[in-house]
Amino acid sequence: MGGTYGDSTRTVKVVGGHASPGAPIAPAPVPASAYHLAADESGDLDTYGRVSNPTWRQLESALAELEGASAALTYGSGMGAITSVLRVLTRPQTTLVVPADGYYQVRRYAAEYLARQGVNVVEATAAQMCDAAADADVVLAETPVNPTLDVVDLHRLATICRGRRSTLVVDNTAATPLGLQPLSLGADLVVASATKALAGHSDLLAGYVAGCNDELMARIERDRLLSGPVLGPFEAWLVLRSLGTAGLRIVRQCRNAAAVALMLRDHPAVRSVRYPGLPGDPSHPVAAEQMKRFGGLVAVELEDAAAVHALVERSSLLVAATSFGGIHTCVDRRARWGDPVGAGFARLSLGIEDTDDIVADIESALG
Ligand SMILES: *Cc1c(COP(=O)(O)O)cnc(C)c1O
Repeated sequence: MGGTYGDSTRTVKVVGGHASPGAPIAPAPVPASAYHLAADESGDLDTYGRVSNPTWRQLESALAELEGASAALTYGSGMGAITSVLRVLTRPQTTLVVPADGYYQVRRYAAEYLARQGVNVVEATAAQMCDAAADADVVLAETPVNPTLDVVDLHRLATICRGRRSTLVVDNTAATPLGLQPLSLGADLVVASATKALAGHSDLLAGYVAGCNDELMARIERDRLLSGPVLGPFEAWLVLRSLGTAGLRIVRQCRNAAAVALMLRDHPAVRSVRYPGLPGDPSHPVAAEQMKRFGGLVAVELEDAAAVHALVERSSLLVAATSFGGIHTCVDRRARWGDPVGAGFARLSLGIEDTDDIVADIESALG
């Protein structure tokens, strides 16, 4: 469908769309744990709710379309999707590279479960990813990496992985498929938390895997069936409903992030700011090469923890919350979760407020 369409058109078009007279425009949720079976025991598309669900299928075809994949699988959370993929791709002796600076629970899973089963787990920062990939069987990269917003050169990483016949998995949560298309840059699989910008309303958890290798996708689907981290039909429906406005929301979030990053760069209370879209940012050259949009996250370093607390206190718009990608602009002081960053490091997740309002609010709240 429509390489010529813009992203807001595409996100509208992937939702619903089976035009037959009398059919509702909006897809309806199908809550079901069990389905009527054919009397002759043949040809059943749906049998049991952990195997399949019509609402999943609609969401999965929408996500596959947005990621440029042949198929997608939905999960009850991003971690459900990521751990399913890692279980399928690793066995004792496999060398697995995971981000040292990325989403911390992924490396906790690798250390606490996979390493104990004999998987050789290697942690690498965004800057170390390509070197680490030279000795790896499976590479999980995250870009821009959460929360420091360093960017991994995916074209280079994919070339290394292809040369070794190793498998490259990219966590596309922060960029979203509207900002980055890892499969077109050579990744074998995309994993993501749809909890963040795709669902976008801070009211549910969901995750997905997308890819173009049917045999590999079938093995991952088998793991989902046997381990059971499935998405509820209502949540699937809410994600599908949210996708219709994802184009609008993400475009606004990216615009707000770019404007706030520019303001922060020149503010005297700010020690440093990172945004891949900011000219002069260390990640900007690679980001400009591979990203279509630079995302809604901005990393800012203030003097200390008290400065972050004061920012939230004085602001009328900022919400103190972990997670990101929602309609409200959120601030999260990452050191409290154990991320290896300074005490005054805060991750801003820009919402969909009017750009002038959010820039003015943060600027004055910084004092
Ligand atoms: C949030 C997040 C996850 C985990 O997703 P859940 O939906 O919370 O399970 C994985 N990777 C990244 C980059 C994330 O931000």
